[in-house]
Amino acid sequence: MYRAELACSEGCDFHSPIHEVIYRCPTCGGLLEVRHDLERLRARSASAWMHLFDGRYKRTMWPYGSGVWGKKEWVMPHVRDDLVVSLDEGGTNLLWANRLGGELGLDDLWIKLCGNSHSGSFKDLGMTVLVSVVRQMINDGKPIRAIACASTGDTSASLAAYCATASIPSIVLLPKGKVSTAQLVQPLASGSLVLELDTDFDGCMAVVQELAKDPTIYLANSMNSLRLEGQKTVAIELVQQFDWEAPDFVIIPSGNLGNVSALASGFLLMRELGVLSKLPRLVVAQAERANPLYRAFKEGFDRFAPVRAEPTLASAIQIGNPVSVRRAIRALQKTDGIVEQASEDELAHAAAWADRTGAYACPHTGVALAALIKLLRSGTIERHHRVIVVSTASGLKFTEFKTRYHARELPGVDCRLANAPEEIAPTIDAVKRALDRRLGA
Ligand SMILES: *Cc1c(COP(=O)(O)O)cnc(C)c1O
Ligand SMILES: [Zn+2]
Repeated sequence: MYRAELACSEGCDFHSPIHEVIYRCPTCGGLLEVRHDLERLRARSASAWMHLFDGRYKRTMWPYGSGVWGKKEWVMPHVRDDLVVSLDEGGTNLLWANRLGGELGLDDLWIKLCGNSHSGSFKDLGMTVLVSVVRQMINDGKPIRAIACASTGDTSASLAAYCATASIPSIVLLPKGKVSTAQLVQPLASGSLVLELDTDFDGCMAVVQELAKDPTIYLANSMNSLRLEGQKTVAIELVQQFDWEAPDFVIIPSGNLGNVSALASGFLLMRELGVLSKLPRLVVAQAERANPLYRAFKEGFDRFAPVRAEPTLASAIQIGNPVSVRRAIRALQKTDGIVEQASEDELAHAAAWADRTGAYACPHTGVALAALIKLLRSGTIERHHRVIVVSTASGLKFTEFKTRYHARELPGVDCRLANAPEEIAPTIDAVKRALDRRLGA
């Protein structure tokens, strides 16, 4: 009864059923978006939607306990429940970062821990939708042999896990030497065909797009709009976690710019359906070494030029030519959005500072926290504002980043919060002396 279809996101007339293997508008070459039948969705009142979603949240009835599938009517209504490929994604902790907020001069700081997920990043939220739709296509007789992606490490880990769950072959193209050990091991363990290419993410992306011209190889990159439908539930879920109130700012570390587009579409949909009356201001946080959107923002979005992304500790956002740039700019224009950037030193320091207050922040979350610090300093964000930092991955995937910080081995980073282990003699006296040194005698 609820319906969604693919449509051109650039305003052409083109539309197509969801189950077609198509990623771009044949008329203008623009990206596609999933368009819902808003009239039907509006037939249910805002309070009835909220009640329905609250009743499902984190319960056990398949597949509605998932944070994504609990909002199925707004996400991908036509997928058959028994074909859904879910690993119980979403429903993640919204952490009140009280101590960190206090130290930064903010009364109402929250971290949405999207990395507390099956494969350790928010990519699971989108992948459950994409792999479920593909499973239904295969079930309906489409000749799809495998799902493929290029990745900076987290998309591939997620794709591999969901494909393994559904017994669909997966193929991942990774930039050689540019993903963490954990991120490389994840798709290997899941049985993916893992191909390491001697290039960067943008280079892998170019190859995988060629590969996906073969219609039996389904493309899972975020140019594929199915994933954004799942990721938009982050916006819905965090509003739900505040008893259906919008925050003032949401800060999102961004690379290919799919996630900020997804969150914006979640907020806009909630306003459309009367769940929200105001929108939060969205903040895109970029690494200074991969900052094409920041540069465009500084020029009022008059023009956009891709850059050559330099190596950054925030490796998952080392992207110079973001595929979703046009939809991201529209998203920022509709939400009075802002773009901020963080240097290597700023992102590493912000992550280490947050860790000292009990977080275990990945470097991308460090980029978002560094952006927050700058916006507080410039007065854009004030003490009374309610701010949500989107933590995109688990810090546990970035052990090299943390160990090198605490060993003071990060070039160009002043590791002022480094905390190295002390080697001492195996005696109670030596232990007591170490305690006295740390705590004061
Ligand atoms: C993918 C990813 C991002 C960037 O998301 P985009 O949609 O590409 O902007 C940020 N952080 C982490 C940890 C990621 O895996
Ligand atoms: Zn078009």
